[in-house]
Amino acid sequence: MKIVFATGNPGKVREAAEILGEGFELVTPAELGITEEIPETGNTLRANSMQKADYIYKKTGLNCFADDSGLEVDILGGAPGVETARYAGPEHNADANIDKLLSEMARREKEAAMARTNGITTARATRSARFRTSVTLIINGQHHFFDGVMEGSIAPARAGKGGFGYDPVFIPQGYDKTNAQLGEKEKNAISHRGKALRAMAEFLKK
Ligand code: IMP
Repeated sequence: MKIVFATGNPGKVREAAEILGEGFELVTPAELGITEEIPETGNTLRANSMQKADYIYKKTGLNCFADDSGLEVDILGGAPGVETARYAGPEHNADANIDKLLSEMARREKEAAMARTNGITTARATRSARFRTSVTLIINGQHHFFDGVMEGSIAPARAGKGGFGYDPVFIPQGYDKTNAQLGEKEKNAISHRGKALRAMAEFLKK
């Protein structure tokens, strides 16, 4: 089945091709001559994935899907959330995003430690976090939605060279290495995007 993946992120395309397997031929917007950045101005992951899928559907009329992902860090009250891609600025720079994440977490941990030395009881600081993905699929003009979550924690420093985005600092629950140290197949088997796209593939095969 031929389907457009509304993304400009080669890391996501590589993962989706592995997750969806042989029955699917993925086409990218760039291959259709759509090279501008696809707008994502919504307040939720679902609004953004829908906006990206709608944009490509309106331009091409082709069956397509889009995903929008966010990282929720508990000690940051759920931030960066829907701001994950542009946490350190509009350039979507992964390295700057990770630097900001680690420094914001260090700042919060320091504040909590200071409060404790002043005799103020605070909840124990944890580094727990999760990735969420919302996928919007448009088939014959109809919208369908699929979600996925990956629980884990934020490492104190980067480790590994694989994956993309925040993978060098995200340790999935039950593992002692980061996503960037896992093989692609191993990450996809447990990832937020893997779960959502497998649910989409099951739906399409029916
Ligand atoms: P978006 O879904 O393209 O808006 O991505 C949101 C942000 O999350 C970007 O900074 C991505 O690099 C990051 N991100 C999305 N999925 C993953 C992942 O699987 N691993 C690490 N970072 C990710």
